[in-house]
Amino acid sequence: MSFCEQFPVGEQTSDAAGADRDERGSENSEQSIICLRCPRGCEISTTLDGYGGIVEIFGNVCKLGREYVEAEITNPLRILPTSVRVRSGERPLVPVWTPKPIPKGRLMDLARATRSIELEAPVAIGQVVIENWEGLGVDLVTSGAVRRA
Ligand code: SF4
Repeated sequence: MSFCEQFPVGEQTSDAAGADRDERGSENSEQSIICLRCPRGCEISTTLDGYGGIVEIFGNVCKLGREYVEAEITNPLRILPTSVRVRSGERPLVPVWTPKPIPKGRLMDLARATRSIELEAPVAIGQVVIENWEGLGVDLVTSGAVRRA
């Protein structure tokens, strides 16, 4: 069963509340977002009112596309892949990542925080480097291993 059959769109959305706000004078804007929920990669067009509310959305083949667009507009999340330094290892760096996504706006903060980290070899895969960063409930974890030199 395809994504489309599992999560049918049903009716295309048109937010009546958003339309009201338009009549009160807010300016609409258009935005195009590629849905990354599945390999199909639908290009979804949205119309936003002046308050960031979705007035119209089309181009999504299934309802996951709407969920994706809503999350992208209200609270976009991303996984951070980066690396941290390793002391006394056979390699100077080990790859790390956040298994759970963090708010897109905090990516640079976490990337900066990793610059001061230096692990002592040996480093195991899946080792927690930072636990519950900034209370967001997201760990920074190694995705590779480094043996001692
Ligand atoms: S809307 Fe998103 S999840 Fe649904 S078919 Fe298109 S790309 Fe896949």
